Amino acid sequence: MPGTNLKTLLIEDNPLHSRLIQELLAKSDGPEFEVDSAGTLADGLNRLAADGYELLLLDLVLPDSEDLETYLRVRAAYPDLTVVILSGMEDIKLAARAVEAGAQDYLVKSKLDGPLLVRSIRYAVERSRAQHAEWESPMFRLAQQQFLKAAHLMGLDDNIRQRLLFPQRTHVVTFPFRRDEHRYVETVAGYRIQHLLTMGPTKGGVRYHHDVNLGEVTALAMWMTWKCALMDLPFGGAKGGVRIDPTVLSRSELQRLTRRYTSEIIDVIGPQKDIPAPDMGTDENVMAWMMDTYSHQMGHTVPAVVTGKPVVLGGSEGRREATGRGLVYLVEEAARHIGMDLGRATAVVQGFGNVGSSAARFLEACGVRVVGVSDVTTGIYNPDGLSVDSLLRHVDENRVLEGYKGGDAVSNRELLEIPCDVLVPAAIQNQINADNAERISCRILAEGANGPTTLEADEILQEKGVFVLPDVLGNAGGVTVSYFEWVQDTQNYMWTLEEINDRLRQILLNGFQRTIQRSERDGLDIRTAALIEGIHRVTQAKLMRGLFP
Ligand code: NAD
Repeated sequence: MPGTNLKTLLIEDNPLHSRLIQELLAKSDGPEFEVDSAGTLADGLNRLAADGYELLLLDLVLPDSEDLETYLRVRAAYPDLTVVILSGMEDIKLAARAVEAGAQDYLVKSKLDGPLLVRSIRYAVERSRAQHAEWESPMFRLAQQQFLKAAHLMGLDDNIRQRLLFPQRTHVVTFPFRRDEHRYVETVAGYRIQHLLTMGPTKGGVRYHHDVNLGEVTALAMWMTWKCALMDLPFGGAKGGVRIDPTVLSRSELQRLTRRYTSEIIDVIGPQKDIPAPDMGTDENVMAWMMDTYSHQMGHTVPAVVTGKPVVLGGSEGRREATGRGLVYLVEEAARHIGMDLGRATAVVQGFGNVGSSAARFLEACGVRVVGVSDVTTGIYNPDGLSVDSLLRHVDENRVLEGYKGGDAVSNRELLEIPCDVLVPAAIQNQINADNAERISCRILAEGANGPTTLEADEILQEKGVFVLPDVLGNAGGVTVSYFEWVQDTQNYMWTLEEINDRLRQILLNGFQRTIQRSERDGLDIRTAALIEGIHRVTQAKLMRGLFP
């Protein structure tokens, strides 16, 4: 929860305890607590009625309420609130009953110390957020709604429709890893979801992010299924993730985390089972550690267990920049399709990691003026054009865009609304939604990120005549070169960069043409046409294989 402001209510009638806890929370080095306090349950319930509290620290024995009743009254009124019970030594049994009734955790007041208090609360809030989002996540709902819309329009067999709406296999693990400061062992949650096992091994990235949950990873796995099928790749969709902020981890912490996560999911991955790759928050180093951990367990080197590895370990030429490069191949094709001259075009790119920075670089190489970029820390705008090389050097030296002097600082929200010809969301999901779609002013929306646009926004953009390159097509360059890497690894034969790029362009443009043809023939928006292309192939495969037993 980096940079999070946690609005907290403390209901505690002992003023000494109340002050002590507030002092401990004030020293937190993340999240930041914004604490109000109350001495009675009645006062506390009144304050909770004012919107916005996410966390309640609750003493169960108060002047106007006692025992479990205190907790039950709060829970009845606020079913979604994260509640951590503050217990005396003598009340532990009572606190445990509150946890049984749904409180997230309890802490013993006489044993509180600052870092441990903050850490327990952080876990409790993360758990509670994740529980709410496990299946009920906005991203999973978006993936399901997109699928249902496509299924309806293509008249999909209801048996297949039900079968594809949920993943075939979900693996949820929790595991420990030691921080560099040896006092701390973190317990973190990890996932590996395999949406469809019909087409061959499953394939999909691994995401390290503090918001990862089952719903998010499942949505990403489902999109991978359609993407692989649209590109005619012999894979079903999968995705993995660990709920942690990787930007606060040292390199050795990241390595220990990766090795332990890999060993937790080792039974379900493998070159013929499920092949991970990098996604947000992971890179080729993480893939090297995953490959090494898997190989140690197998007793011999197995390069084909992951893709997106360093070239020296059997990675493919061109994989690192494949998603951005592929996106720009498609932007070129889309520009030709709508009669737009890229040499006179401007672009804005949200997200300056693997996908965003390579997309910016290749757009610039096509003669496009990149006028805005952003990362999680800031947006940078310069109507005269930014130098992508100098932005890359700045990020190399400082890790983030913040502090870059070649343009004006803007927020991510403002950045998306800058008028431009090509807008590339290449960061996280749900960036273009009903709130801002009306103000998006571009001719091509090239989705590098997965799920950046909601269904409502899609409709608004369609009315505005924006040409949308949907994620399942736009960012498919990554998995396509991952496929090449897997083929090269299994054949022990390496291709040149030229061969890789030629084949990549061919596969992407083929997918683009089929999508446009379907869209024009059946009067569909491009996203739905792309999804139907993928779903159609999966359906054919399912029907051909038949049902076991
Ligand atoms: P990355 O970790 O390399 O970079 C992510 C970038 O987004 C960083 O610059 C980060 O600062 C920025 N960011 C994070 N949160 C943000 C926020 N709230 N607002 C603005 N910027 C924010 O990740 P990546 O691999 O480039 O992935 C980016 C997106 O592309 C993800 O949606 C991912 O699923 C998708 N994608 C990646 C690949 C791939 O090959 N890496 C392939 C297909 C799709």
